[in-house]
Amino acid sequence: MAQTADVVIIGGGVNGTSTAFHLASLGVRRAHLIERRHLAAGATGKSGALVRMHYTNEPESRLAWESLKVFRNFKNVVGGDCGFEPIGFLQLVPAGFEAALQRNIERQRRIGIDTRAVTRDEIRALLPGCRAEDIGGAAWEPGSGYADPNATAYAFAEAARQLGVTIETGREATRIVTERGRVAAVETDKGRIDAPAVVLAPGAWGQGLLDPLGLDFGLMPHRVQICIFRWPPGVSRRHPVVIDAVHQSWFRPEGTHSTLIGVELGVGHTDPEKFDEGVDPDYVALCREQLSARLPAFRDAGMRGGWAGMIMMSPDGRPVIDQIPSVPGLYAMLGDSGTSFKTSPAIGRCLAEWIVHGKPRTVDLTAFRSTRFAEGKPWVDPDSYGRERLTISRP
Ligand SMILES: Cc1cc2nc3c(=O)[nH]c(=O)nc-3n(C[C@H](O)[C@H](O)[C@H](O)COP(=O)(O)OP(=O)(O)OC[C@H]3O[C@@H](n4cnc5c(N)ncnc54)[C@H](O)[C@@H]3O)c2cc1C
Repeated sequence: MAQTADVVIIGGGVNGTSTAFHLASLGVRRAHLIERRHLAAGATGKSGALVRMHYTNEPESRLAWESLKVFRNFKNVVGGDCGFEPIGFLQLVPAGFEAALQRNIERQRRIGIDTRAVTRDEIRALLPGCRAEDIGGAAWEPGSGYADPNATAYAFAEAARQLGVTIETGREATRIVTERGRVAAVETDKGRIDAPAVVLAPGAWGQGLLDPLGLDFGLMPHRVQICIFRWPPGVSRRHPVVIDAVHQSWFRPEGTHSTLIGVELGVGHTDPEKFDEGVDPDYVALCREQLSARLPAFRDAGMRGGWAGMIMMSPDGRPVIDQIPSVPGLYAMLGDSGTSFKTSPAIGRCLAEWIVHGKPRTVDLTAFRSTRFAEGKPWVDPDSYGRERLTISRP
């Protein structure tokens, strides 16, 4: 006999678990999350988990800002520990983008975000030992930082479970069933679950569920790597989180004596069922080069490991967060594009509000609509920093 639920959530990453928690908080206790492997098995478990507000558009800054309020007060709002470290965030941009940077800062300040422009001398004080001559401008967010992505997803799932949600790992959705023109059930490798609403948060593994529904948003799975370096002699203080748009890199402390760095490589397709979870040797060399271009002491830093994870890029590099108009009852968080950890608390809350209240209340999600590609209106930011097709460090 088929099981039943009010909502089935597909995917046990940070967006699926956040949605499960927020649904339960709004009173939907008959929700059922299924995850084909284990919690945080996808991008979430590999995330750099930078938590910064700096974007070159308002909707993403709003999602990040609403999410920061949750990260800051996680124990009281969700329960458990998300490992948030508010050590501050620096956005560095090349010369020529000073005016765009200023406009972005002003837009963020209007939302309520604590951010300001800083001078080269201030950058040198915030990031001791750095080379600053090639920096055109910088924004500083004292309250931003990074979190523990696994702990965040586990905590959302545990809080949802305590509120009555069924969290089931080792169960794979094989088809979303529609009947009479709307969502009716999810077929899985362990039987069918009847439900009038489904939230699809499958990360890089979603296309197989979209194809039978005739949904093609041009999503592309992409492998992203990071590398960790032990601090060299003379480096003894934890630095802030940095996105360095001059050297196309992003880095943050890892533990008490190391730095985790990622460098943008451009976007290319990789099969998410067969990708290599380790870090490539030439990528390690590239990371050392880009990190020491900003912090010269790291030329002699010891490499301490690295990994690769899978993200799903959308054609314009922005997520799709929507109630899919052609499939009533289907809600989706797709095309995370490598920047959707920091926004996951608000994404989950908005999706839950959509299901319970008929529309999202926390943030207006119109800009994230799935139809923007078919309309010929992909997302373009007026004040971007001139580099297209970025992943993790896209502002
Ligand atoms: C190396 C790296 C660094 C990153 N750094 C940052 C950062 O600094 N800041 C930031 O904000 N973001 C960052 N990201 C991106 C961020 O981690 C992702 O955007 C976010 O974790 C996506 O979460 P998700 O829940 O949508 O997807 P995922 O975490 O990918 O979860 C999807 C889950 O769905 C499951 N699943 C898929 N198909 C099915 C099915 N058919 N049935 C059941 N389960 C299924 C998968 O097993 C997986 O566990 C980074 C990503 C990587 C890889």
